[in-house]
Amino acid sequence: MLPEPVLERAKDELLSFRGTGMSVMELSHRSSYFESILEGAERGLRDLLAIPVNYKILFLQGGASTQFAMVPTNFLRGGASADYVITGYWGKKAIAEARRNAAANEIYNSEAAKFTVIPAAEELSFSPDAAYIHYTSNETIDGVEFDYELDGKGIPVVCDACSNILSKPIGIEKYALVYAGAQKNIGPSGVTVVIIRDDLIERVPSNLHPLSDYRALSENKSMVNTPNTWGIYIIGLVCEWLEQQGGLEAMKTRNEAKAKSLYDAIDSSDGFFRGRANRPARSMMNVTFNLPSAELERRFCEEAAKLGMDGLAGHRSVGGIRASIYNAFPKEGIDELVGFMQEFAGKNS
Ligand code: PMP
Repeated sequence: MLPEPVLERAKDELLSFRGTGMSVMELSHRSSYFESILEGAERGLRDLLAIPVNYKILFLQGGASTQFAMVPTNFLRGGASADYVITGYWGKKAIAEARRNAAANEIYNSEAAKFTVIPAAEELSFSPDAAYIHYTSNETIDGVEFDYELDGKGIPVVCDACSNILSKPIGIEKYALVYAGAQKNIGPSGVTVVIIRDDLIERVPSNLHPLSDYRALSENKSMVNTPNTWGIYIIGLVCEWLEQQGGLEAMKTRNEAKAKSLYDAIDSSDGFFRGRANRPARSMMNVTFNLPSAELERRFCEEAAKLGMDGLAGHRSVGGIRASIYNAFPKEGIDELVGFMQEFAGKNS
């Protein structure tokens, strides 16, 4: 979901952006108007996440999946290897891309536990020569989230933060690179935000294709070629909306309350609903659970959809139910879902 006030504002400005008589989609990306849009989106993210000056913010294309390949392409040259922490579906995809052309160590993998757990910090030990450590702060499909930020102890930490970025404050200085497809909490699909520390940019080899080259993209302010102008514009509006909501501390409080309502409904159902993730690993953004049978899960989704609650089926790889409750998802929607869950359990247990 995108916040409704953002969509309203975009609608108001659709035909004429700030009196230009042109839509953002029609403005040249080299125009001063677009320059101010890009600066606004960057400033918005920098303020919300308190991103220090020694980090660049890039607005790229190709989705987070392209970052799975770009990170190793930029940092695993000349026999270097990286450590990967695999806590779900997306982490597996990330390491597969790293291994396409380089070496990557799987230093943790919870697949045997069906990706329902998150390692304690003490369980992880890193290879001293790792070029970086990669992890996924929230596994969108499995519904498991780190409740702490990984400390690389001097090794650069790269984080796929697709599905929990902007849901709470984070300490950016703990990371060397954070990436996220915009389509969950930041804006529309088609833009990927990359936050990268300057010293990492200096490690980029000199012979890369410019669209895969963090240095070239940074030197050209994300405009090696035409960027997703509309997507970047919406990101700026979402950042303004988040500031108006009280910033990321306020979002965290709100998101915790939303998730708690759903997990409480699961835990108080006498076992009718079963949370998929281990309790300490439960995600604040993607609440995954099961019903007593696949048939009941199918009916649950069907009946919910009739009431306007669509998209509750879990990812095809895990089944079950998944309620994705990103920033813009309102508390009222949670209350409605909780009401429906209680009614459904009452009728079917
Ligand atoms: N990582 C995570 C954690 C995701 O949730 C997703 C998409 N849902 C991706 C990577 C892939 O993103 P994209 O579709 O933008 O390539």
